[in-house]
Amino acid sequence: MAKPTYRVTVAATERRTPNLRRVHLEGPDLARFPDGFEGGYVKLLLRPDGSAAPGPEGAKRRSYTVRALDREAQRLSLDFAAHGLAGPGTRWGAAAEVGDVITVVGPGAVKGLDPASTWVLLAGDLTALPALSVQLERLPPDATGHAVIAVPSGDDRVLPELPAGVEVSWVVGAAPQALVERVRAVPWRAGTVGVWSASEFEVMRALRSYFRDERGVSKDAMYISSYWKRDATDEQHKAAKKADPTA
Ligand SMILES: Cc1cc2nc3c(=O)[nH]c(=O)nc-3n(C[C@H](O)[C@H](O)[C@H](O)COP(=O)(O)OP(=O)(O)OC[C@H]3O[C@@H](n4cnc5c(N)ncnc54)[C@H](O)[C@@H]3O)c2cc1C
Repeated sequence: MAKPTYRVTVAATERRTPNLRRVHLEGPDLARFPDGFEGGYVKLLLRPDGSAAPGPEGAKRRSYTVRALDREAQRLSLDFAAHGLAGPGTRWGAAAEVGDVITVVGPGAVKGLDPASTWVLLAGDLTALPALSVQLERLPPDATGHAVIAVPSGDDRVLPELPAGVEVSWVVGAAPQALVERVRAVPWRAGTVGVWSASEFEVMRALRSYFRDERGVSKDAMYISSYWKRDATDEQHKAAKKADPTA
């Protein structure tokens, strides 16, 4: 069944960090938006030039995390990462101005951390920071573990308040694969781990192989996803995901 669509208007924009721009979307359609999807995602309907598409027919779809939903204000907030090779999604996020109208589709759910785990290990890049932040916000105060996060610059290091037992390692301004090295360097703890990770496609494959094949983490204890693919549009990225023989 086709996912519901919501016609929304840009109500405000906010520069969170040098490379992360928050766009607040509002509109009466959001009265129908279901509760509990923070950390899940919506798809923006776009034209190839980065302008809003009039409807689903022939539109490019780009996924963005539901960073926050304010039910009373009927406000949906998304964070857009900037990167050099802007496709339609990045372009729209960078240029959005108050009053712009766009259609979003969804929401889709993203799996959270396994609540039965003894400790947590989260890893992600700037595109994953919105979703990873929601996961961190949901941790109980006595949670323990690590978060390894890759960002383009030191000023992009923004996180919600963390449980005291969760340590954060930042990988600043490095190539995507540096995230893998830093995750591998996290001391492995006793007990069961809950893994949450989202990143570039090849980075995801390397992390999945590390967790699954080297550390024996079971499927149920792990959310591991790729949010984009180097040198590939999102359409090509999706095709690569489908064809991935190691999945
Ligand atoms: C479930 C989910 C949630 C997501 N949440 C967010 C979010 O909250 N915020 C966010 O910013 N992104 C998020 N993403 C990632 C975002 O959908 C992709 O980065 C998407 O490719 C951007 O579309 P585009 O039109 O700008 O570029 P595309 O047309 O897909 O690609 C154009 C070029 O840009 C390159 N490219 C795409 N993304 C990046 C990147 N991050 N860094 C460097 N180069 C890149 C591609 O390799 C390609 O060469 C999410 C993805 C998924 C699957």
